[in-house]
Amino acid sequence: MPNSPAHLDDPHKLKRRGMLFVLSSPSGAGKSTIARKLLADDDGLQMSVSATTRGIRPGEEDGRDYHFVDLEEFRRMVANDEFLEWAHVFDNRYGTPRAQVEAMLAAGKDVLFDIDWQGAQQLFQIAGGDVVRVFIFPPSMEELRQRLERRATDSVEVIDARMARATNEVSHWDGYDYVLVNDDVEQCFQGVKTILQAERLKRSRQTGLIGFIRKLTTK
Ligand code: 5GP
Repeated sequence: MPNSPAHLDDPHKLKRRGMLFVLSSPSGAGKSTIARKLLADDDGLQMSVSATTRGIRPGEEDGRDYHFVDLEEFRRMVANDEFLEWAHVFDNRYGTPRAQVEAMLAAGKDVLFDIDWQGAQQLFQIAGGDVVRVFIFPPSMEELRQRLERRATDSVEVIDARMARATNEVSHWDGYDYVLVNDDVEQCFQGVKTILQAERLKRSRQTGLIGFIRKLTTK
């Protein structure tokens, strides 16, 4: 019996390995809005929630935005090999808990990481290069500064420090597979969504392909 032609029209029906999808950008470039839109749009994608030693900010929720832990707990997690990757980001430590990522992949989900260039590099090594790394640029450094100032929650010193971090983050753009400029959040979101969809269709990610082709071509 030949296979239904519907399989050809709908490549999503092919079996596929879960994907590691990294989104990096300087703070204020709109990455969290885009991550939120992607997650709301697509139930095949789940967010990796990092652990951090930094303090909780207004509006953040423990367990949703981060797992907020103290230095002692973070060190214990490092010693127990509980992180897939971790890094110092300025004065704080941030790490990706291994267990949740493994559970998401085992459940057939793609995993979205909001991590910095160090995390992207480490994941790339751990996963033997099988990571999709996307970098979002602000339209300009002036615009980024204005966005940070518009938030009106931080002092000039804090904004200066964020701008210095942003310049550092942007300097690692060449460690990414895709780069986008966020001058319009909807367009940028559509761009990231297109990358996600195209990467899902890569031949190398289709695990059931040989069986599928065999069925398809067997009379
Ligand atoms: P923020 O403190 O503004 O939430 O994040 C600061 C930076 O840390 C951001 O660039 C963010 O992407 C990065 N970050 C958050 N979680 C992780 C993580 O688990 N690992 C790494 N390497 N970076 C992270």
